Amino acid sequence: MSGVRLWWMAGGAADTSFLSPAVTAIGSVYKLPVRLETVNARPDGAFDPRRNQHSSTRILNWLSHHYPKGATRLLAVTDYDLFIPILTFVFGEAELNGKTAIVSFARLLVQDGALIPRDRAARRLAKEAVHELGHTFGLLHCKSYRCVMARSASLKDVDMKEPALCSDCTARYAETGIGKEPSDE
Ligand SMILES: [Zn+2]
Ligand SMILES: [Zn+2]
Repeated sequence: MSGVRLWWMAGGAADTSFLSPAVTAIGSVYKLPVRLETVNARPDGAFDPRRNQHSSTRILNWLSHHYPKGATRLLAVTDYDLFIPILTFVFGEAELNGKTAIVSFARLLVQDGALIPRDRAARRLAKEAVHELGHTFGLLHCKSYRCVMARSASLKDVDMKEPALCSDCTARYAETGIGKEPSDE
């Protein structure tokens, strides 16, 4: 099946109510079907014991090697805290103009050290999921702070944006022609 595969890689069965805002936002922004799958396999060698974090880049490589046939894009959702070497942490990473992306909710569950309501965390996750997928469609960081493609360096940035593309980014996505092909379901 073409469309976005959403892989739950966070233990147990996929938390469908937690993921529901992300599934809805991805479907409405990119006009693609979304299929949620629970994946029990985990990437080897992505954990860095010195940082006590997982390398998002190494996980992306692993996702490429396990890419589901026929999928338009693959987005993994993890509870691992992710990093890239130049940053303390990242909410996610994606291959620009590629096929794979990952988003972590490890840092989306809290505010000032305290847990926030799960539905609020789920809305944050939806924004970061749409953001990382946007990079796979070639979208770059947007100057509009309300646009989902605005850079998220902090939770404040995440909370300020909408789970949607601004008009400029919408036009850029339309140019890809993705999301317009007839569904093969
Ligand atoms: Zn980004
Ligand atoms: Zn934008």
